[in-house]
Amino acid sequence: MFDSLQERLSGILDTLTRRGALTEADVSAALREVRRALLEADVALDVVRDFVETVRERAVGANVVKSVTPGQMVVKIVHDTLVETLGSDARPIDLNAAPPVAIMMVGLQGSGKTTTTAKIAKRLTERGRSKVLMASLDTRRPAAQEQLKILGEQVSVDTLPIVAGQSPVQIAQRAMQAARLGGYDVVLLDTAGRQFVDEALMAEMVEIEKATDPHEVLLVADALTGQDAVNLARAFDERLSLTGIVLTRLDGDGRGGAALSMRAVTGKPIKLAGVGEKLDELEEFHPERIANRILGMGDIVSLVEKAAESIDAEQAQKMAEKMRKGAFDLDDLAEQLKQMEKIGGMQGVLGMLPGMGKMKKQLEGANLDDRVIKRQAAIISSMTRQERRKPEILKASRKKRIAAGSGTRVEEVNKLLKMHRQMADMMKAMGGKKGKRGLGALFG
Ligand code: GDP
Repeated sequence: MFDSLQERLSGILDTLTRRGALTEADVSAALREVRRALLEADVALDVVRDFVETVRERAVGANVVKSVTPGQMVVKIVHDTLVETLGSDARPIDLNAAPPVAIMMVGLQGSGKTTTTAKIAKRLTERGRSKVLMASLDTRRPAAQEQLKILGEQVSVDTLPIVAGQSPVQIAQRAMQAARLGGYDVVLLDTAGRQFVDEALMAEMVEIEKATDPHEVLLVADALTGQDAVNLARAFDERLSLTGIVLTRLDGDGRGGAALSMRAVTGKPIKLAGVGEKLDELEEFHPERIANRILGMGDIVSLVEKAAESIDAEQAQKMAEKMRKGAFDLDDLAEQLKQMEKIGGMQGVLGMLPGMGKMKKQLEGANLDDRVIKRQAAIISSMTRQERRKPEILKASRKKRIAAGSGTRVEEVNKLLKMHRQMADMMKAMGGKKGKRGLGALFG
């Protein structure tokens, strides 16, 4: 996420912080580069202009060049201004209304609208414990209603039964009625998309909005389309009362132009971000955390939240116990690799660690990526139960068999065994010295 922008900005700011003293010319030169970096990231011109001006004024006001740590002060000012540009506070979906609360999803075809509808339904059901009903109002694409039904089954959320021949407004009214009768808290209305904004589409949306009086009207927009996403939001807001934006495909967005311009240009908050195709790959949009990521300061808060969500507490407790006793076998290592994959794999985790953005390239060279995790898991699963419990019995012939079985080489098997040995030794040492406060406690 935002890889190329992050690389540029942290490069510029690093140069500033490395210097002891700064002149006004240094700050101006850095700001010119920031300006160029933002423009290359496809941030709207007005937003870039305002951003650079605000940073400049604040730097002058704070008399940065005379301070003891001028570089760091500039970084702080850039960071704070970035947070403001992104919208300051997180704005989660608002369900504060009499149930059933209608949430209308709008956007172009292919933007990820249907997927996002299911992602939101899953989130509201699991975390908010709401009873959710989804309805597809797309009568043009025959497969659309079916697609939502299948997604609903995947996330265990009810969908409105499909009745052929109804108009979008009729379906919407039926959905609201079904929700009232069925005691649902939330109704998600997945409207039809088109390739372009056209009058027929807008008229249909206006009619649905009138008929259902939604509490939230969320535009789903593809982050990769940059300024087009921003213009789209303006076009939709002219006709509908948009309450917020969901930016999808942020996972593939190296530049960040849409994310950075959306709030400033349209005044609409980005409420959620799609960060992958899987149905749990939806994040709340926290300007502070996003700014940290963009500046390569990491996002520890999100990382810990993710870990807490995906790691099974009981499993972690068992693991901690084993570590304390120094009984960490290859089955446990396999379990750890699995947990790692669950919280977004090596790349996902690294992206959230401070300063890791810069190291990503080097790490790629070291082959420390998700394929390695998969191969390591494959090696372990090619072992017998006894071998996993007692790796010391692994001699040359067994190793050869395991390498062949997992499609790897004996050297890789050796590497994995060495890694496991080092981990086990370290855990033993820490467990012995510090007892319950050792590494094991981290996982408990
Ligand atoms: P719709 O036509 O707007 O309803 O779009 P769909 O929901 O059918 O999504 C189109 C494609 O985009 C599907 O292949 C989705 O898996 C994919 N997609 C949706 N959201 C995201 C996202 O946040 N990241 C990525 N990488 N893919 C996404």
